[in-house]
Amino acid sequence: MRIDLHIHTAPRSACSHLGLSELIQRVKQIKLDGICLTEHHVVWDRGDAAKLAEEGEIKVFRGNEFTTNQGDVLVFGFDKDIKELLTIQELREEVKKADGFMIAAHPFRGFKTFGINQLQMTVEQACRRKVFDFVDAIEIGNGKLSDDENDMARKVAETLGLPGTGGSDAHRIDEVGKWVTVFENDIHNEQELLEELKAVRFSVSKTDTNG
Ligand SMILES: [Zn+2]
Ligand SMILES: [Zn+2]
Repeated sequence: MRIDLHIHTAPRSACSHLGLSELIQRVKQIKLDGICLTEHHVVWDRGDAAKLAEEGEIKVFRGNEFTTNQGDVLVFGFDKDIKELLTIQELREEVKKADGFMIAAHPFRGFKTFGINQLQMTVEQACRRKVFDFVDAIEIGNGKLSDDENDMARKVAETLGLPGTGGSDAHRIDEVGKWVTVFENDIHNEQELLEELKAVRFSVSKTDTNG
């Protein structure tokens, strides 16, 4: 079951240009089995998400993308509406209480532009980033990142023994589904999504979404 775990829609994510009807159309066109809406610091109302799923005849799950002092983190199974920036420790505590799941989003986004690459950061050095002590998984396939940036995340995940997920991070229609997480089992609701994430019954896949 192919699910895009990382999607931003307008207007709930101010930075997104992706409308709901075109999103649904696209999901069907590229035959995704489901999507997860991960707006910035906004969790979808349960009823609104159910309505979107019903009207669009697609599977819709809800997550949230939090910005922390250690970078962006995707959170699942955590409905609390928190607007302010949290430290990674604070977020971990909150999510732990809710029995949720945390994924370090695009951990090496822009690592070349910041010049870290020129310093020849090794995988071992990359593994020491603090965020990895507080997450359950690492996003190793992100649609907005270069192959090099995703590769670094993959190597770090392998080295640390953390599972790797995939999601497009779409903010525009043509970005939807570029990377997906492929689950072994059928998933019918958010509880099952959480269970499958925790049991690590998934892999990642890059999709050719052209056309
Ligand atoms: Zn955004
Ligand atoms: Zn994002």
